[in-house]
Amino acid sequence: MALGAHELRDRIHTNITNSMTPKVSFEFFPANTESMEKTIRRSIEKLESLNPEFISVTYGADGSTRERTFDAIASIQARGTVDAMPHLTCVGALKEDIASIADEYYELGIRKIMALRGDPQGGAGAAYVPTEGGFPYAEQLVEGLAAQHDFDIYVAAYPETHPDAPSPHFDLQNLKRKFDAGASKAITQYFFNTESYLRFRDAAVRMGIDNPIIPGILPVTNFATLQRFSKASSIALPKWLETAFAGLDAEPETRQLIAANIAIEQVIALQAEGVNDFHFYTLNRAELCYAVCHALGVRRALTNESNTVEAAA
Ligand code: FAD
Repeated sequence: MALGAHELRDRIHTNITNSMTPKVSFEFFPANTESMEKTIRRSIEKLESLNPEFISVTYGADGSTRERTFDAIASIQARGTVDAMPHLTCVGALKEDIASIADEYYELGIRKIMALRGDPQGGAGAAYVPTEGGFPYAEQLVEGLAAQHDFDIYVAAYPETHPDAPSPHFDLQNLKRKFDAGASKAITQYFFNTESYLRFRDAAVRMGIDNPIIPGILPVTNFATLQRFSKASSIALPKWLETAFAGLDAEPETRQLIAANIAIEQVIALQAEGVNDFHFYTLNRAELCYAVCHALGVRRALTNESNTVEAAA
């Protein structure tokens, strides 16, 4: 039986008081300007206070962000407060290139890595051609990384099916092959229909997958941009989502409030279905994800010092 809003709130209250809070992680993309770099640094400082499982940094599919991803990961790792997880893709790379990047990360102390095929060089939706001498798909990349070092390997999963897959069943079999090749956990593409995730999770269990499939949560503030990206990635946008943002093009602050509310509702609905891990696509900004985490019961670790600061504020 579905829980009512009050029961859900009560459960969150119980989580907070019993310290049974969910596990969270945050995703950033590498900065390409100095001001973005400053924003990211501030955002990471804020979000790391929530004691996340890791902070991940994306990778340009064609290796275009190789140095910037590496630098961002190195600076997060150097803080010594949170695990940094680099993303790595197959597109346009030879196996030996991947191996040397993986070595560099391992030497840096990195143990978690996200293994992806990457989008084709023409962008999501363009035809994909594997690189000669490279890994054709994420499955083979997982195999290569697992053979090279004792990485904890994460992979991508698609509750609404990856657009290149001939069928949902084929795509789920692909996820199973990635786990069989050595991945430990999956993070999903963002979605707005909670049912899509729950059906996908059930189908995965029926296929014999017992690895965690962590929902990727995208707090949305710009519906037009979301529409463009979601079309190329075959992600369904419910009518209610469009209605929620209609008429707010010139009102960014209101959009932020709506965005936080929608994401909070989504995570509460998932929590009611027993989900206890959430991965947030931060788009390099902390505020929304921080608010959603707070509502989930994920709180800043209170030290004597922070208590004093909060009491004085
Ligand atoms: P795969 O698992 O290899 O699957 C790709 C497609 O090929 C699927 O349709 C699959 O069913 C099919 N397939 C698999 N094996 C075969 C085969 N042998 N023959 C035929 N078809 C096959 N992109 C980036 O460029 N950089 C990032 O940092 C990044 N981070 C991401 C993080 C998350 C959490 C997610 C969900 C996606 C991310 N992406 C990123 C996007 C991702 O690279 C694209 O969705 C890409 O198109 C697929 O990558 P994959 O690892 O899922 O590929």
